[in-house]
Amino acid sequence: MSANDLIKQVEFDMQVCNACRYCEGYCAVFPAMERRLTFSVPDMHYLANLCHNCGSCFYACQFSPPHEFNVNLPRHLAELRGETYRNYAWPGFLSDLFSRNGLAVSLITAVSFALFLLLTFYFQNSAILFSAHAGEGSFYQVIPHNVMALTFGAVALYVLVAFIIGFARFWRDMGESLADFARPVTLGQATWDVLRLKYLDGGGDGCTYPDEYPSHARRWFHHFTFYGFMLCFAATVTGTVYHYAFGWHAPYAFSSLPVLLGTAGGIGLLIGPAGLLWLKVRRDPETSAPKQLGMDVGFLALLFLTSLTGLVLLILRDTAAMGVLLAIHLGIVLALFLTLPYGKFVHAIYRFAALVRYALERSRPAPNVTFE
Ligand code: SF4
Ligand code: SF4
Repeated sequence: MSANDLIKQVEFDMQVCNACRYCEGYCAVFPAMERRLTFSVPDMHYLANLCHNCGSCFYACQFSPPHEFNVNLPRHLAELRGETYRNYAWPGFLSDLFSRNGLAVSLITAVSFALFLLLTFYFQNSAILFSAHAGEGSFYQVIPHNVMALTFGAVALYVLVAFIIGFARFWRDMGESLADFARPVTLGQATWDVLRLKYLDGGGDGCTYPDEYPSHARRWFHHFTFYGFMLCFAATVTGTVYHYAFGWHAPYAFSSLPVLLGTAGGIGLLIGPAGLLWLKVRRDPETSAPKQLGMDVGFLALLFLTSLTGLVLLILRDTAAMGVLLAIHLGIVLALFLTLPYGKFVHAIYRFAALVRYALERSRPAPNVTFE
């Protein structure tokens, strides 16, 4: 389906759903839709990003395929979210490349960075690369700390700028002000909805994912992934504070805070992405968007590999394999970072923005949208 046909189809879906309203208890999409009689293109992107792709409305619907109306919100809204990611990404051409070959681009980027680092370390000093190093600062005998900090700092800054531009474009198109985004009550409500994945509970019984039987599996695996990521981030921040504030250099003891946080996060990032991939393989093909699959799988694969190589590095850090493992791990982390603004990760930015707008709309008086 072309982008224009997709917009027309979603608009048609919304008109049918707005007249029917059977699914209004399932998620935030329906109450937000019911505040409108007509749907602009930014409105449809907003509604698409409120959808958590649970599938409940598909199985409940009397107008879903093979009905001629072809109302299939999980698939159509997932395809439209793909358009959101492409339309608002910066720079746009990278998003096009990634959306066509998400898995391949992720893996090729990771292998390329790992090989590049490996060869750099090798030609710099092969004896250091293949020797065992122990004690404080041993990682930095393979790669100087300043090189590592500057490389990852520059990449992190680039990713942050790409996120801010994408968010600002999306928020501006929805016609909301930055002051409204920063309102504490609605910002807090949206944050709370994200932290507990409110709209993946299917109204209480769990969502119909991967098939028509309600289950909380996806919510749990998503929690493992989200909190695993946050714990790894906390481990990195703690390690940075140790390094710059206290002059304590990695690698740290197994009982230290950065290692405990990183290990817990790493385990979460093994269980979560593996579970989400497993559910994705079993997903009812009627409700999934095939074009989005490569992007989704690429992101989950990079998260899993980042965690796996990080944990293996932790276990073997005092052996002669450390140099090679460090190059592989850093290569995969670099690939993960650089693909964040163009892969599945961006759903976090746009969904959060959509949830903030949803909380804002609910704080305002309901518009008069009764049918005549
Ligand atoms: S998805 Fe189907 S059943 Fe649900 S509100 Fe829309 S038209 Fe009605
Ligand atoms: S798929 Fe789930 S989250 Fe999306 S619109 Fe339907 S019920 Fe709502």
